[in-house]
Amino acid sequence: MRAGIVTVVGKPNAGKSTLLNRIVGEKLSITSPKPQSTRDRIVGIRTTGDTQMVLLDTPGLLEPKYALQQAMRSTALKALDDADVIIYVADATLGAPPTLEEAALLAAVVRAPVVMALNKTDQLTTAERESLTSANPEAVPISATTGEGIDVLLDSVTRHLPESPFLYPEDDISTQSLRFFTAELIRETALEQLEEEVPYSIACEVEEFREDRSPVYIRATIYVERDSQKRILIGERGSRIREIGRAARVKIERLVGGAVYLDLWVKVLANWRRDARALERFGYRMPEERAR
Ligand code: GDP
Ligand code: MG
Repeated sequence: MRAGIVTVVGKPNAGKSTLLNRIVGEKLSITSPKPQSTRDRIVGIRTTGDTQMVLLDTPGLLEPKYALQQAMRSTALKALDDADVIIYVADATLGAPPTLEEAALLAAVVRAPVVMALNKTDQLTTAERESLTSANPEAVPISATTGEGIDVLLDSVTRHLPESPFLYPEDDISTQSLRFFTAELIRETALEQLEEEVPYSIACEVEEFREDRSPVYIRATIYVERDSQKRILIGERGSRIREIGRAARVKIERLVGGAVYLDLWVKVLANWRRDARALERFGYRMPEERAR
């Protein structure tokens, strides 16, 4: 038996969350063409035969500019420390990939074995693809969207996993709660429907989750940082928030497997991204002191 923690890391927008969803076979991590959409560390679990991978998605390893980004970076660094194997995802459409240490702005070399995945190869010409793979012979060309190369990638990860009994029950696919995924799906839907500027100011909190009711009753609040953002989110006579609520409800119904009543609110929490207390309330870990 083999089992271990597999941390998926790479620059924002490389396709980490898409890859994790593909590997787990369920939509666990929110994906978005807007960078920085993943904030917390997501745990997905893939169990096949005698192998179990506990997958951590990581928020972008950015140069932190404010408290939220600091919390995101610290979460990602912790996930690297915890890894038995690291999948380093690079966007192959951007040409020659930087090393993991360069991409993640790391001072030291990581401890765990690294499997490099060159993602988005569905966007490359045959010639581009050949030159990229011959320059990086150890890297695995993949497409997280089409599924190409994923088997090869997983074989390579499995070879690096330690021998160990399973870490979680066989049929678990995640350690996160329905509440957590519900909040993430609402946030994802808002990201989809909003223009630049507002998305990064959005946080979502699920205040009530009543599975004992039919339909399942969920009360949630989307927080923004300013009144002007609240107006944008609500839209003309509430049209935008209604549309966000409707689209999010459809996704949540798929997640819970039944009808849902989504009671969705919008509130202002001034400058929450720079406020350590607010960050903790939304479940973001604040960085521990560390040497890096
Ligand atoms: P993350 O920031 O690294 O988690 O990236 P996401 O998984 O959110 O993906 C960023 C964007 O790249 C999204 O628009 C995805 O649909 C897109 N994407 C991810 N993987 C692929 C791929 O293999 N091929 C193509 N063409 N697009 C991809
Ligand atoms: Mg992501």
